[in-house]
Amino acid sequence: MNFGHRLFFQKNIYNLKNTDDLFLNAILENINHHTNNCTDYAKILSQQGFSIKDVKTIEDIYKIPPIPTLFLKNHTLYSSPKNKLMLKSTTSGTSGKVSEMALDLSSAWRGLGMVLETFFTNKLVSLRPTNYIVLGYQPSKRNKIGAVKTAYATTYAAPGLHREYALKDNGTDYVLNMDGIKNALIRYEKMGLPVRFMGFPAYFMFLVKELLESGIKLKLHPKSLVILAGGWKNFFTEEVDKDTLYTMSEKALGLVGDNIREFFGAVEHPIPYFNCPNHHFHVPIYSRVIIRDLNMQPVGFGVPGMLNLITPMMTSMPFVSVMTDDLAVMHPGEECGCGISSPYFEVLGRVGLADIKTCAANASELLNIKKGGAV
Ligand SMILES: [Zn+2]
Repeated sequence: MNFGHRLFFQKNIYNLKNTDDLFLNAILENINHHTNNCTDYAKILSQQGFSIKDVKTIEDIYKIPPIPTLFLKNHTLYSSPKNKLMLKSTTSGTSGKVSEMALDLSSAWRGLGMVLETFFTNKLVSLRPTNYIVLGYQPSKRNKIGAVKTAYATTYAAPGLHREYALKDNGTDYVLNMDGIKNALIRYEKMGLPVRFMGFPAYFMFLVKELLESGIKLKLHPKSLVILAGGWKNFFTEEVDKDTLYTMSEKALGLVGDNIREFFGAVEHPIPYFNCPNHHFHVPIYSRVIIRDLNMQPVGFGVPGMLNLITPMMTSMPFVSVMTDDLAVMHPGEECGCGISSPYFEVLGRVGLADIKTCAANASELLNIKKGGAV
């Protein structure tokens, strides 16, 4: 078995020290694969003066030139022949700025190992029949937005009885299905089974606000879960207090604390970071995270900078090291106090790029629906 496959089927997903050697070997194997199969990637590396021989230990991985996600939105790079690609997905882009992501069989196999172990570790797998509220678009053939697929895939972590979507496909368009959601929730409460919510924080806030305004106060099953995707601050156009949302959720649904789980991920870096009981994103064995200053130099713990994500997961596309437009800060694992020893990062916001407001724009569009009255 190659190093990459071995890494993605390890147990103990937060034991970074034990997997440092395996991770390094998987990264070197991955860089060799991409430089051999993607001429553009090979060119980028050589233009940056990179030589794989410079990476001798895990401490050297910062030397791998990170590719900005902004670049990937304009240039799609493949390391696999097109006919070997499956599970295609794109990010929610406006004005033609779209990131494409596709997995080949080998990347999908690694993804499977990772998702299984991550879901078990985070106690997201349940055999109890569960009802779902998906705070996003109903999947359809004409919608390739990555978030839709993520939300849909997550609904398989517990056997689904019924799924209700916030944005329903009526054949030609998407319509806001608020009444459908309200009725489903009232029905779900009576059934006495767990409910899982999936979506962006802003969508969830919109829902609980709407429920409280309609005087709906539910007490959902204690094993219910709210799974919120995305770095917290990215999805708000206005400052929203996390504690306020948690309080509103307790009032409207009876769900708070451990019932609410967030995860962070990017299309160009499909590693799920779930928050720990103290709401921190610890780094799992599948990736390493580097924070860089504006001169691209790595900075230490406690210093804010640009978030650089590194993983050998993908064999279909050369996403070994990607530079996001997130501003983040790293902390040593021990600082959290939850017992997980791997370091964690906090997303502080976006690196001031005005045109990257897609998700925030989507969220505010949804929030404006009420005022405008139409989708
Ligand atoms: Zn923690």
